[in-house]
Amino acid sequence: MNLDHFSESYDDARAKFLDAARAAGASVTNYPHPLGGGLHLDVAVQGPKDAANVLVIGSGTHGIEGFSGSAAQTAWLASAPTLPADTAIAFFHAHNPWGFRHRTRVTEDNVDLNRNFVDFASPPPNPGYAEIHPNITPETWNDASLAAAFRWLDGYREKIGEKAFSNAYNGGQYSHADGIFYGGARRQWSRDAFLAAARAHVGHAKRAALVDFHTGIGPYLEHVYVGFAVPGSPLWERCRAWWGERAVNGQGITHKALADYKGILTDAFIAELPKAEVTTTVVEFGTRPRVEMQRAGMAQRWMRFHGAKHPERLKQVQAEYDEAFYPSDPKWRAAALEQSREIIARGVAGVSAA
Ligand SMILES: [Zn+2]
Repeated sequence: MNLDHFSESYDDARAKFLDAARAAGASVTNYPHPLGGGLHLDVAVQGPKDAANVLVIGSGTHGIEGFSGSAAQTAWLASAPTLPADTAIAFFHAHNPWGFRHRTRVTEDNVDLNRNFVDFASPPPNPGYAEIHPNITPETWNDASLAAAFRWLDGYREKIGEKAFSNAYNGGQYSHADGIFYGGARRQWSRDAFLAAARAHVGHAKRAALVDFHTGIGPYLEHVYVGFAVPGSPLWERCRAWWGERAVNGQGITHKALADYKGILTDAFIAELPKAEVTTTVVEFGTRPRVEMQRAGMAQRWMRFHGAKHPERLKQVQAEYDEAFYPSDPKWRAAALEQSREIIARGVAGVSAA
C-alpha cells in the first residue's frame, strides 16, 4: 500500500486528489466554498458522464474524517482500474471542506453536516440533549472536569437506557448552537453543494449508489458498515448482496445501541434521486474505543469555544483529537486503504450488475 496517498493538510489532500483525477482522465468539477481560500467540494468523474450506472464515493462529510476517505479516492484514481460498460464513478472530495481544513468534524457553523439534512421549518426535537448539555460542556478541560462529565453521563445512561441515551447524545440536536452533534439552524453550504453535485453528476442515472467514508466507529484496523435500510427492504437486500452480511448485520459496531440519526446525507441522496434505484451505505474505519470517541466529541466543542484562552492545552487536545479521527499509525492507514479498495470494487460490481 502506498501511504503517500495520505496527507497532513486539506490542501495537500486536495492537490493529490486533483492530480490523480487529471492523470486518470477523469472530468473534474469544482464547487467553491463561499469562505474562499481554496476550499472546495471537488467532483471527479471516471467513466462516461452519461453512464446509466453511477457510483459515488464520498469523503469528508465530517471534515477531519476526510483524510482517510480522500486517500481512498486518490489511491483508486491512481490505479484507475477499467470500469464495466455504462458505469462511472463520481468521487466527491470533501463534502465539508472547512471542517477538513480545520481538522474538525463540524462545519464553519459548528454544524454536524450529517444531521443538517432536515426541514428547518420543523427541526426534530431532542429534549434529552437539553438535559445533557450543561453536564458535558466544561469550560476547563482537565481530568477532573472530564471525570465529572463521564460520571454524569453514566448515570444518565443507566436512568434512560442505551437507545434513548444514544438518541439524546448523538442523534442530533437543533437547540444548542454551542453544543455537540448540532444539526444547525439552517442549511449549510455543504448540504446545498452536495445535493447540487448529486443532481449534476448522478441525476441522469438509472442505478445510483453512494459509499460515504467516515472514521471513528468500530474496532481498530477494521471497518464497519452503518446501514439505515429497513431489514428485508430492497435497499437492505442490495447492500447485503453487494458487500455481504456484515453490511446489514451491524458486525463490529461498538455502540450498544445506535441512535436514530436525523438529517443524514445518505438519506438525502436517496430523496434527491427519485427516478433511480439508489443504494447507499456508510463505511466507518474504526479508530479508538467508544469512550475515547465521546471524549473527542466533547473536546471538539471545548476547542472551538474555550480553546483560544488555553493555547498550550489546545495543542494537546487537538493532537489527541487528530489521532481519534485520523490515526498516524502506518498499519492503520495501510489497512484503511486496502479495505477501501475492496469496498469500492464491490460497489462498482454491484451498481453495474443489471
Ligand atoms: Zn463521521
